[in-house]
Amino acid sequence: MKYDFAIIGSGIIGLTLAFKLKQKFKNSKVLIIEKESDSISHGSGRNSGVLHSGIYYEPGSLRANLCTNGVKELKEYVKTEKLWIDECGKLLIPTSKFSYSNLENLFKRAKNNGVEIHKIKNNEIEKLEPNVNCQFDYGLHVPVTAVADPKEVSSSLIKNLKKMHVDLQYNTKILKIIENKLITKDYAIEAGQIFNCAGQFADEVAKKSNLRFRYSFLPFKGKYWKIKNENFKLNHLIYPIPDLRYPFLGLHSSHNRYGDFYIGPSSTPVFGREQYKGFFGESVSESLSIFLNFSKKIIFNENKLRSLSVRELSLLTKQGFFNEIKKMFKNIRADELELSNQKIGIRSQIFDPQSKSLVNDFVVINQNYTTHVLNAISPAWTASFAFAEYLIDQAKL
Ligand SMILES: Cc1cc2nc3c(=O)[nH]c(=O)nc-3n(C[C@H](O)[C@H](O)[C@H](O)COP(=O)(O)OP(=O)(O)OC[C@H]3O[C@@H](n4cnc5c(N)ncnc54)[C@H](O)[C@@H]3O)c2cc1C
Repeated sequence: MKYDFAIIGSGIIGLTLAFKLKQKFKNSKVLIIEKESDSISHGSGRNSGVLHSGIYYEPGSLRANLCTNGVKELKEYVKTEKLWIDECGKLLIPTSKFSYSNLENLFKRAKNNGVEIHKIKNNEIEKLEPNVNCQFDYGLHVPVTAVADPKEVSSSLIKNLKKMHVDLQYNTKILKIIENKLITKDYAIEAGQIFNCAGQFADEVAKKSNLRFRYSFLPFKGKYWKIKNENFKLNHLIYPIPDLRYPFLGLHSSHNRYGDFYIGPSSTPVFGREQYKGFFGESVSESLSIFLNFSKKIIFNENKLRSLSVRELSLLTKQGFFNEIKKMFKNIRADELELSNQKIGIRSQIFDPQSKSLVNDFVVINQNYTTHVLNAISPAWTASFAFAEYLIDQAKL
């Protein structure tokens, strides 16, 4: 089999990349290879569906640039295709003195990234959101943030890719990359250019193409709690003001088109790449290696991972979780929270042993015929269309 472009992984990055490649090179032969039987089994079908504005990220970083551009393109796509979107905007609430001390930094960062943001008084917040508890004088309002349905976006892209004659091959796992050949269990595929968009397995796939890099994989699980009280409503997305040193945004509200409200996701260390239930993955040796890697970082408190893990442990019980969220929400009781068995995601997070910290930006590495996408953490879903264009640029096509 011969293709001009072969993409490993049919998550949002793989799908938008195929879309952009076909727009740019109309007569090209494009293949997407996916190990699952659908495109939404992992990150792109398990996220909050938030179209982020780009306020959080270091100015000049890939996350800042690709998010601020990507959000416009994703919104345009969703609207053109008449998909569900709620342009509700976001309120950011300080939940501690430390969090409040970050308000000004976040405000400046948002301005530097060119995002519309406003300071908003606590009494105005409570008028807009009777179920929100703002203990400090001010919060922040970001009007551009919206919510869409990630599964609907993927299926719309797949429908359009089929019309564009892109081949999508499910149930096919890439075991190795040798030069410009992708090796599966049964056959090899030749491609002019290969893109590794394998999400939680991207570093593994990169290793199997003999790419040398210093990063290790540190997966964090995100669980959500559903609010069972049907009278509990929010008009905006509600987020805490986070610690900007970490790639996590803190426990926040999310909602879907059916009017269900959730709070999450947690950021719990987990010892398997696709371990949505329990802590350990299918491969014993890999689980052990991730466990030892985590343990070392926790013992030496690298990048404050011990403190982070201790805080996360307290969120594992319903009462611990409730104690945390009542800093931001009111009119809600612990017995109205139900842990969701379906809404669980795992971040494709990598760790840099050189800086001894969690990598806080997307990482793209070019190698002969292959472009590898590592650390496609949030907001890669929002950024996807702009990210795809960046990948085409990086591959110098
Ligand atoms: C809990 C949580 C909440 C989030 N919320 C948001 C949000 O609100 N907004 C936002 O912008 N971002 C959010 N994100 C981030 C976002 O979901 C991801 O950044 C995005 O989905 C990454 O897409 P992807 O295509 O790289 O990966 P994926 O969607 O994981 O796709 C990768 C695909 O590659 C396939 N694959 C892997 N290995 C192989 C192989 N060897 N051969 C063939 N196929 C392979 C996998 O099966 C998978 O389908 C969230 C993430 C999490 C975990």
